[in-house]
Amino acid sequence: MAEAGSVAERVKQQADIVRVVGEYVRLKKTGKNYSGLCPFHQEKTPSFTVSPIKQIFYCFGCGKGGDVYNFVMDMEKCEFPEAVKLVAEKCGISIPRPKERSAEGRKESLERGVLVEMHREAQTFFVKQLEGTLEGKAARAYLEDRGLDQDAISRFGIGYAPSGGDALLRHLKAKYPEKLLVESGLSSRDQGGKLFDRFRRRITFPIANESGKIVAFGCRALGDDQPKYLNSPESPIYSKSNLLYHLDRAKEGIRRQDFAILVEGYMDAIAVARVGISNVVASCGTSLAEQQIKLLSRFTKRVVVNYDPDAAGQSATERSLSLLLEQDFEVRVLVLPPVGDKKADPDLYIREKGAEEYQKRLKEAPSYVDYLIARARQMDLSTGEAKSRAVNFLLPYVQKIPNRILRSEWATRIAQQLRLEEPVLRAALSKAAAERRGALKLQPELVARAGKPVERRLIRMLVEAEGFRRELAERLENARLYHGLETEKIFAALVVASLSGQPAQATEVAAILEERDRRLLFEILFEEASEPTWEEALSCIETLQQRQAEQELAEVQRSIEANPTGPGLRDLLARKQELMRRLAAAR
Ligand SMILES: [Zn+2]
Repeated sequence: MAEAGSVAERVKQQADIVRVVGEYVRLKKTGKNYSGLCPFHQEKTPSFTVSPIKQIFYCFGCGKGGDVYNFVMDMEKCEFPEAVKLVAEKCGISIPRPKERSAEGRKESLERGVLVEMHREAQTFFVKQLEGTLEGKAARAYLEDRGLDQDAISRFGIGYAPSGGDALLRHLKAKYPEKLLVESGLSSRDQGGKLFDRFRRRITFPIANESGKIVAFGCRALGDDQPKYLNSPESPIYSKSNLLYHLDRAKEGIRRQDFAILVEGYMDAIAVARVGISNVVASCGTSLAEQQIKLLSRFTKRVVVNYDPDAAGQSATERSLSLLLEQDFEVRVLVLPPVGDKKADPDLYIREKGAEEYQKRLKEAPSYVDYLIARARQMDLSTGEAKSRAVNFLLPYVQKIPNRILRSEWATRIAQQLRLEEPVLRAALSKAAAERRGALKLQPELVARAGKPVERRLIRMLVEAEGFRRELAERLENARLYHGLETEKIFAALVVASLSGQPAQATEVAAILEERDRRLLFEILFEEASEPTWEEALSCIETLQQRQAEQELAEVQRSIEANPTGPGLRDLLARKQELMRRLAAAR
């Protein structure tokens, strides 16, 4: 794929796989390599390994492996050209614009650029409206009432969409085609086809994507207009389930503290972030989407869920819990106590009780287990039937936990807390566990020891010994030394690659191998080993020659015994002598 001299090859040489992978996986240095939890399968102990020297990765658990492009393609579910572009961007390498890009693709990316630009202009417009108009003054009063001062207003880019109905439209329509105005979601069409502003008499909150570009707005009605909250529709630049509000500013803090606070709406996120707790993101909407969790898992696997304590928030919390557990997150749940007689969302709580009190609650937030058991205990537990309802409420969560030990700990605690007989519960649990979807993949232990040491060593040389891999390949090929070996197909592919004179591309060779051989090749590459030398290569070749001679000797012997009076006996005996002499000399 990355041909010599191509842009892809050049980017790959300059890029650092550790840096690119490090954006998705928390890596720890272990010896020469880095390791972390595999992003492609669920695991508790790291089997995902990255080699900065070879610029490749491999997971000993699920067998995924390859170079920086394979990683990005798998991670971002994109094609090769897109992966090259992404890697170049991430590493700050400039690449020439590909000429052969399709007209369709060009149009799309142009359109996205225009939509982003339009949002930038709308943002400036809304901010000006809040600052400098009479209507804006009323909006400012409302914001102040919610405890948002000038500092917070400018920090979070809060603005105002006036009531007129076409104020923004008049501002934008000279510059942008109607079609794109509608597509952006900033304008709508009435039944007669006439354009008007989607957001009117509303406070505007810009919603930025992970890289900080504004791609949508969330708007709150100023008066009693319905709906209270109105957001941008899905557009080519905005997909609700792929974005977490405030992540662009929270990611540093999340990484540093290794946990994220998950709240419902942007008002909550702002309330938390403005008092200096930066690692907060909002799902913007009551249901958390799987893609949002995947996005978050690039920065941490630990979350405190702090949704509103009303019924909607409660069921949203429970839905989010299942999803987070499925993705192997460590989850705690913060339910804020009422303030006076009001149920408290993070915004209200911080305003009334202060940031320190919130921090304290955050630290004390119980694990999801305790939260759920507390919820089950609120149910009626007076009869056996009622108890089984409570257990049925808990079981689906247990089913989602990938770790068996954790599941077992759960069982004990549920039994204690609900005063159930443990064996009964355990039976229900193991049934639940058996039905757990996405059962873990088999560990490829079989692969780990395939291929004898000499074969493994030679394979490694064919990949790495730039100085003599070609000569080595010639010798192996001419004497047909690798034929019949367990690792024959790996040798065959590497010998062809080495004889072609191209630089070694282990990942490309791997790509053409069958699954078992592909894994074996990666495992060999990740073995601890010293620099290969030509002397060592020669001694490995000799070993293979001996093995070949031994095999042939056995065959000759069998032929002689099967046909002691046949016509070829003389030749066979001569061959036997020759082989025996050779083997004796080698010993
Ligand atoms: Zn894996």
